[in-house]
Amino acid sequence: MKRACVIGAGFGGLALAIRLQSAGIATTIVEARDKPGGRAYVFEKDGYTFDAGPTVITDPASLEELWTLSGNRMSFDVELMPVMPFYRLQWPDGVHFDYSNDEGALRGEIARVAPADLAGYEDFLGYAADVYQEGYVKLGHVPFLDFASMVKAAPALIKHQAWRSVYDVVSSYVESEKLREALSFHTLLVGGNPMTTSSIYALIHKLEKDGGVWWARGGTNKLVSGMVALFERLGGTLRLNDKVSCIHTVGNRASEVETASGWRERFDAVASNADLMHTYRDLLCEAPRGEQYAKKLAKKRWSPSLFVVHFGMEGKWPGIPHHSILFGPRYKGLLEDIFEHGVLPRDFSIYLHHPTISDPSLAPEGHSSFYALVPVAHLGKLPIDWDTVGPVLEKRILDEIGLRFIPDIHDRITVKFHYAPPDFESDLSAYMGSAFSLEPILTQSAWFRGHNRDDVIPNLYLVGAGTHPGAGIPGVVGSAKATAGLMIEDLRL
Ligand SMILES: Cc1cc2nc3c(=O)[nH]c(=O)nc-3n(C[C@H](O)[C@H](O)[C@H](O)COP(=O)(O)OP(=O)(O)OC[C@H]3O[C@@H](n4cnc5c(N)ncnc54)[C@H](O)[C@@H]3O)c2cc1C
Repeated sequence: MKRACVIGAGFGGLALAIRLQSAGIATTIVEARDKPGGRAYVFEKDGYTFDAGPTVITDPASLEELWTLSGNRMSFDVELMPVMPFYRLQWPDGVHFDYSNDEGALRGEIARVAPADLAGYEDFLGYAADVYQEGYVKLGHVPFLDFASMVKAAPALIKHQAWRSVYDVVSSYVESEKLREALSFHTLLVGGNPMTTSSIYALIHKLEKDGGVWWARGGTNKLVSGMVALFERLGGTLRLNDKVSCIHTVGNRASEVETASGWRERFDAVASNADLMHTYRDLLCEAPRGEQYAKKLAKKRWSPSLFVVHFGMEGKWPGIPHHSILFGPRYKGLLEDIFEHGVLPRDFSIYLHHPTISDPSLAPEGHSSFYALVPVAHLGKLPIDWDTVGPVLEKRILDEIGLRFIPDIHDRITVKFHYAPPDFESDLSAYMGSAFSLEPILTQSAWFRGHNRDDVIPNLYLVGAGTHPGAGIPGVVGSAKATAGLMIEDLRL
């Protein structure tokens, strides 16, 4: 039986390991942290359950496929619940917009907020459907290993003017600034600036429209534990709390994996779900390839980091939907500050997560749990002392939520803590604390992203946000499909 090692138990690593194990390859996952999930870690405090990362689950079919590969059903391990509306977008002037895939309701919202843009929205939908077909259905899970594969994709990229940004394309269809923001903010969910991310990412609109937005009962961590349960039932091994320190090589082949605890084993193939820079710079401890590619990666653009405030409090908030985006006074300028200048702006836009509206089990009786997330520059921009700034920013974010929804928020809170860029760096070995790996701009997409199989070490593979198609659960699950296809074929040969 062939043996494979997957380094890291993020969504990409877990999905890859399930695919390998389902194909009869004996697979061991080695994870540095005490729990699986990666960005989808979970904190349990004072009776509350706080998901650390992803909360918006899209394209459930791509997850179901992981179970059907071995004749299983996802519903045996995980219960997915639909979320409606998908998001409530709110602006400082009090206007709000409920975004969903309910055609009638969405048109009603557009007619209320931007009536002149109804026809333009229909045309945009046509564009989003086309790029979804080309960019996700056809190419979302195929590896781009050589430039020829990029050339093949070129006609579609040209047809859809992929060099334009999502915001630019959206603006060519609709006039209202609010609607432009509502139809372009999605790239932030995968670490991209709507002003510079390729318009191909407009596909997210169609992805959500067709597949819906879902929530795993008990939290995203239940989806993670469901994947682990499936993997272990299939006979796979998960090794937690043991950080990989070296992928040993003999000639141009990966031979053994060694961890901080001294555990060392031989494998036929090794796949890394760890941060791309960490993999090449730190884990390829012997092969010159590591240092060479790390130098190239250092010149690339990396996605911003995030600042997340988790809080639990007394009371129930039926008026606050599961997902809200609280836009600040600026859109373009704020994005420039985060992505280009790297300063910490005075204003912010907040993604507010309120899971207890769908699932009260995440908080003690009569209490609610939330997280408030704001994008911030990664650690490679201007130096920021997060030990000092963190508590100040936390208070300002809670003040803003207090102003908009809960006037006595500070008195009601029973537990709170924040997660800042240095935490991404130390807990996840994320380069410069980036929350989403390489920025999803056209010149860092497909073949220009981390390759699913290394160019020099043919039994070393990559999976996760740094590879094609990129960050987000559907992205990394798609990357696992691309990587698994290569590994299964290579190992059978
Ligand atoms: C706060 C936040 C909110 C998000 N919200 C959403 C959302 O709502 N919907 C959505 O689809 N996406 C969302 N995303 C993006 C999504 O979570 C990520 O793109 C995705 O989970 C990344 O998965 P990954 O497979 O790349 O692995 P990661 O989650 O990055 O996991 C990599 C794993 O490798 C491990 N590792 C690293 N180095 C080593 C080592 N040396 N040895 C062993 N293990 C190692 C790490 O500990 C980690 O467990 C969000 C991200 C964040 C941070």
